[in-house]
Amino acid sequence: MKIIMLGAPGAGKGTQAKMIAEKYSIPHISTGDIFRANIKGGTELGMEAKKYMDQGQLVPDELTVKILLDRVAKDDCKNGYVLDGFPRTIPQAEVLDKALSELGDAVDYAIDVDVPDENIINRMGGRRACVTCGATYHMVHVPPKQEGICDKCGSELILRDDDKPETVKKRLDVYHAQTQPLIEYYTKKGILKSVDGTVDMMDVFAKITDILG
Ligand code: ADP
Ligand code: ADP
Ligand code: ZN
Repeated sequence: MKIIMLGAPGAGKGTQAKMIAEKYSIPHISTGDIFRANIKGGTELGMEAKKYMDQGQLVPDELTVKILLDRVAKDDCKNGYVLDGFPRTIPQAEVLDKALSELGDAVDYAIDVDVPDENIINRMGGRRACVTCGATYHMVHVPPKQEGICDKCGSELILRDDDKPETVKKRLDVYHAQTQPLIEYYTKKGILKSVDGTVDMMDVFAKITDILG
């Protein structure tokens, strides 16, 4: 099963993608996590990506597409995967479709987690992330057991630089301009499923599992 998560920054794509990955035993692939791991590791890719991420801009398609195609070519992706944060532009979606169709394959579901902009600003301020293992928390909705420490790996939790309000505003603009058109793109392909992302995360997940079966 090949699944794409769509939705604004902070809509809950990552939260849902992790639960989907676990339930269906497929890898969760987040381009944002891959970039952050590279930034942390001080790689050339990381340094390049950081310039854009700090500004709330998208990393250029050429860079992003390459790392994504390398990742989905790995062995653990044979039975499918859930993509979180990719594609984010029409050209990225076209590259993925082309690569899959060359293998006689296609994306099965594009799930749009729908949350209005007003809710997003609130959510992002409370998000805390673990840069070591990728776990995500929320100070109010999903607090860690011990403040500031990741339940899963014990690392320190951070407020991402790009989750500060000025950058969130910019990311929402970028989302509307560059990513939202993907909703129409996947609607035309007949695989778009929209879920209300404003409700409790377990209720969002229940809607998604109804869709996926
Ligand atoms: P969020 O989960 O809040 O939407 P991500 O972790 O997915 O954020 O992405 C963080 C940043 O990484 C984005 O703002 C963007 O700069 C970059 N990024 C992640 N995925 C992509 C992509 N597919 N194309 C371009 N840039 C990306
Ligand atoms: P995205 O990957 O779309 O950027 P995340 O999954 O990281 O979004 O979620 C953004 C923030 O909102 C996180 O702090 C997360 O814990 C929290 N969150 C996710 N889903 C919900 C929900 N249904 N209700 C309230 N908070 C949520
Ligand atoms: Zn962790």
